[in-house]
Amino acid sequence: MSYLLEVKGLCKHFPIKKGVLRKTVGLVKAVDQVSFYVKPGETFGLVGESGCGKSTTGRAILRLIEPTSGQIYFEGEDIVKLSRTHLRKARRDMQMVFQDPYASLNPRMTVTELIEEPLQVHGLYSTKERREKVFELMEIVGLNRSYHDRYPHEFSGGQRQRIGIARALALQPKLIIADEPVSALDVSIQSQVVNLMEDLQEEFNLSYIFIAHDLSVVRHISDRVGVMYLGRMVEIGTKQELYQEPAHPYTEALLSAVPIPNPKAKRERIVLKGDVPSPANPPTGCAFHPRCPKAFERCMQERPELIHLGGEHYVACHLYG
Ligand code: SF4
Ligand code: MG
Repeated sequence: MSYLLEVKGLCKHFPIKKGVLRKTVGLVKAVDQVSFYVKPGETFGLVGESGCGKSTTGRAILRLIEPTSGQIYFEGEDIVKLSRTHLRKARRDMQMVFQDPYASLNPRMTVTELIEEPLQVHGLYSTKERREKVFELMEIVGLNRSYHDRYPHEFSGGQRQRIGIARALALQPKLIIADEPVSALDVSIQSQVVNLMEDLQEEFNLSYIFIAHDLSVVRHISDRVGVMYLGRMVEIGTKQELYQEPAHPYTEALLSAVPIPNPKAKRERIVLKGDVPSPANPPTGCAFHPRCPKAFERCMQERPELIHLGGEHYVACHLYG
């Protein structure tokens, strides 16, 4: 199986600076040694509480922020090593859809201008052809073409997200990184947007990294899911593996909090003690140990590595291996 995307040991560390001299006094390991892959045409759900590093991971893959270290292979080529010029080409194949379409769309641009912009930036097509493309894209995402000269504020949240998706689709990407694309929308609208994304995936053989803080949102759309905690990947599995046999105590706790129709699953709610610790000062060993109901001696000293459990199931926890 060749992967569309393979992320290996990705790190994004931010220096903590203090005082007038802006002296570096520490390091926030926002993303720390994260590895995973995405196959062509699949959806990889990336889940965790806010601040766990999932958005930073998404942005680092597109090099919207520069990774501190690690490799990001896209169709076999390490894009961390690409020059700005070559990166521009790679960027056509990888697009992002943002959480808040209102904040990510220029309020002074019409729908036509917004959807046309990526084509223009990359110097594609004539003006007339671009206009045709815009109409085509509007249709594909379910926007009435008669709205073409309207501004973002004239649309509902769901419609604005459709504009964001049309923009992302304009360059015919292979991978779309969707950062909480439905979190800001009403529940009834959420499923419409998720359904649209699924239809588009089928039609254009797209791969998605679908970022969410909630395991229930990604369950429907994901083929595989990765769970992050404090900048680290703690579990990866197919939908079946992860939702039916969660291995990591953190995944178990997240799952116990969402209503998922699985008669076999234990429905006991696991309430985690304490808050997510500061990523500037993460706990030693397993970063989850202060909150883990199953923690033991070793967890405080030794950081668990991601190990293979079988199938496509991986976990970073001393209870295994
Ligand atoms: Fe809990 Fe220890 Fe596993 Fe971490 S390594 S999740 S603290 S049991
Ligand atoms: Mg985020």
